[in-house]
Amino acid sequence: MAQQREPGGGVDPRVPLDRLFQDLRTGPDGLSTAEARRRLAEHGPNELRRQRRRGWWREVGRQVVHPLALLLWIAAALAWISGTTVLAVAILVVIALNALFASVQERQAERAVEALTRYLPRHARVRRDGRWAEVPAAELVPGDLLAVGEGDRISADARLVDGDVEVDLSALTGESQPVHRAADAPAGGHGPTEAGNLLFSGTNCLSGQGRATVLTTGMRTELGRIAALTQRVGRDESPLEKQVRRIAWLIAAVAVGAGLVFFPIGVLVAGMPTSDAFAFAIGLLVANVPEGLLPTITLALAVGVRQLARAGAVVKRLSAVETLGSTDVICTDKTGTLTENRMRVVAVRAADTLLDPAPGAGTRPDAALRALAVALAACNNADPEGGDPTEVAPLRFAADLGVTDAGHPGRRTQFAFDPKLRLMSTVDQVGDQLWLHTKGAPEEVLRRCTRVVAADGSERALDEAYRRGVDAAVTAQAGQGRRVLGVARRRLATVPQRRADAERELTCLGFVAMVDPPRPEVPEAVARCHTAGIRIIMVTGDHGLTAAAIARQVGIVRGEPTVVTGEQLDAMTADQLRHLLGERREVVFARVSPEAKLHIAEALRANHEVVAMTGDGVNDAPALRRADIGVAMGRTGTDVTREAATMVLTDDNFATIVAAVAAGRRVYDNVRKFILYIFAHATPEVVPFLVFALSAGAVPLPLTVLQILAIDLGTETLPALALGREPAEPGLMDRPPRRRSDKVVNAPMLARAWGFLGLISAVLVLAGFFAVLLRAGWRPGASTGPGSALHDAYQEATTMTFLGIVACQVGTAFAARTEHASLWRIGVFSNRLLLWGIAFELVFAALVVTVPPLRELFGTRPPQPAMLALLLAFPPIVWGADELRRAARRRR
Ligand code: ADP
Ligand code: MG
Repeated sequence: MAQQREPGGGVDPRVPLDRLFQDLRTGPDGLSTAEARRRLAEHGPNELRRQRRRGWWREVGRQVVHPLALLLWIAAALAWISGTTVLAVAILVVIALNALFASVQERQAERAVEALTRYLPRHARVRRDGRWAEVPAAELVPGDLLAVGEGDRISADARLVDGDVEVDLSALTGESQPVHRAADAPAGGHGPTEAGNLLFSGTNCLSGQGRATVLTTGMRTELGRIAALTQRVGRDESPLEKQVRRIAWLIAAVAVGAGLVFFPIGVLVAGMPTSDAFAFAIGLLVANVPEGLLPTITLALAVGVRQLARAGAVVKRLSAVETLGSTDVICTDKTGTLTENRMRVVAVRAADTLLDPAPGAGTRPDAALRALAVALAACNNADPEGGDPTEVAPLRFAADLGVTDAGHPGRRTQFAFDPKLRLMSTVDQVGDQLWLHTKGAPEEVLRRCTRVVAADGSERALDEAYRRGVDAAVTAQAGQGRRVLGVARRRLATVPQRRADAERELTCLGFVAMVDPPRPEVPEAVARCHTAGIRIIMVTGDHGLTAAAIARQVGIVRGEPTVVTGEQLDAMTADQLRHLLGERREVVFARVSPEAKLHIAEALRANHEVVAMTGDGVNDAPALRRADIGVAMGRTGTDVTREAATMVLTDDNFATIVAAVAAGRRVYDNVRKFILYIFAHATPEVVPFLVFALSAGAVPLPLTVLQILAIDLGTETLPALALGREPAEPGLMDRPPRRRSDKVVNAPMLARAWGFLGLISAVLVLAGFFAVLLRAGWRPGASTGPGSALHDAYQEATTMTFLGIVACQVGTAFAARTEHASLWRIGVFSNRLLLWGIAFELVFAALVVTVPPLRELFGTRPPQPAMLALLLAFPPIVWGADELRRAARRRR
């Protein structure tokens, strides 16, 4: 008979398991690799098909009706009505070019972000050929046997065949309350999502363990059915983009205002013909509407995202790049982030004997040491090749002593590691005896012990003196930066149901101490943070002394830090915690629970600090969401934290966070650089028209409308884009983090753009203009109109203005490359793109001045060679003046 299918597409949850296996042509041991491959070809990859992207013409269409573009439409209509057809057509060309340009940039930005998913492939643990294997989630097929554990994202719709789990179905149902799912749960309920034994793609396992048979994959899952829920990268507008949008509107308003003011002045004061004045007013408006600014910024952020990904930090939102740049505090885990997470047992205490160094391979253990090794091998979910390093190390140690427990055939049940209890226990059948084996934080283990084992394996009561002895030994080990695990056992009569009933009245077996060396690149990254004014706060579940020792080894603290334990933290009020963190003392948080991380993030944010917080476990997810930048581990972390995070480290390395902060700062700087560059040309464009207006027409207009458009929309564009790719300025990480309230465009920047670079340019440009006119014999008030004797000279002079602005902008481009440093320090030719952009600018300007049809259109006429030679001096003057200004500022 054919498979019974629910309307939802899944297999009926009520059919007995053996029938299900039969229907899916599989069994309790999964599939063979060959069969899985065949099914993959048949069913297709386990992926959600993306929504089709918007066509490029729709994208362009969207840009054409952009509010700022609408302003241009109005200008075009006005130009048309007033009879200046050339200008009207020119504006239409401007709109089209802008729309095209903006959509290309947006598309590129989208691509950059989409490409990120390639850096974060999802994996699933499945049974293939009778063994467990990690496969890409996209290769899951119906019939696969899937292992599901705490923190996993479930990658297909599946039915539990054993075990039980708590799952978060919110991606499907919107209900955030976790629900219980078990192999033997009743299958009833209304929709398929209510069946007690089904798991769904796109949902998360919060705790428990189980194995499930895959029913459906890809678009045939429940998630596929509501395909709108495709996991997409957020495209929220960043504060930077919001600010720039506001600025763009402000400038647009100023442009409209300038146009409105110019018109009456031109007509009434200077006596211009109405149509000319009108055309010029419109040109002024069109030239100054900054419609290209926003897509350029989006692109700069996207380029930043792509560079971060290559450096090992995958961010999930464009805005994260910007936030990263303003990070004040990094709260970091110890294990795996600052350290290598490659542990090795270096000391051991069994019964009353401390062995430091720990005994090596081939040692014949005494009874107590053997009991310790048996407990470590049994109470363990790793295998020698992989798993949690905190478990791999004890496992290898036990194996060295000849004790193994591969596959745990005797295990009856387990109480998984709980980061709040800091304990893990298993119940194991050893021969005809039932034993509880426990390992965990030594003080937690010891607290639950009532007896101790002696060297010969006999047991006696635990007295105070013994407790103090163990405490002292643990303290000595932790003080050296070692991670210590206490080990205990208990003889049981029956398998206990409740954890609290099991983990008590234990017999202490001793402890193991492990080293986990700091990552070699971390001390340097820490030092970079310190020069960059970024605080680092270690937040770890480990022992306070271990934490403090590692913090010292990598340079996070210099002296004796204040160690705040989880218990002390829980006793503090929110205000006290804020106060403590506000004091900027050297603190290390140790033995803290994941919830405490949330409080730390909240307190820091309440102090107006921008917080990056790392995490790996399921319980870390809320803290990661609360931080400004939640950082998850790509290798060791759980899917749930990766889901909650803003940034995922593909190498789990602290140094990568610091690199990401530097990249964020750089992107922000570069955005400011091109805004500076674009703003600077406003002065040399506006001052000539002021001269014209204030002289009441005695001085002819030094620049024509179309020439303004040629600068703003032709020669400017590529150099501006290239400034967005500037290499980092020296000293980027030597200054304190930018404050959250800092504006991307601020008064000093405007002063530099308009009042300094712009003003110098305006003076030079006008000098060029007058030089041409005066040499031809012009005097104020002389007629320069068409047909007059001076008309040729006038055309040469306006061309000189045009070329002068272009030349000055070349100088401005070089000046804009650094904000503080001298350009020599980053290399005059180190931005190749900018050199190309300038080459384009010059060629474009040359064409406008020499090619006859373009000359006709733009009203140009090449100036005399002597005048052209004058232009050569402009770029070095503008750039050199800014070098001097920066040098003077640096000295101060
Ligand atoms: P960290 O911040 O160093 O990653 P964890 O929360 O992972 O801290 O661990 C906290 C403490 O719990 C450790 O110091 C150790 O004593 C204990 N612990 C960690 N992993 C295990 C485990 N798998 N089994 C038993 N105890 C563990
Ligand atoms: Mg850990």
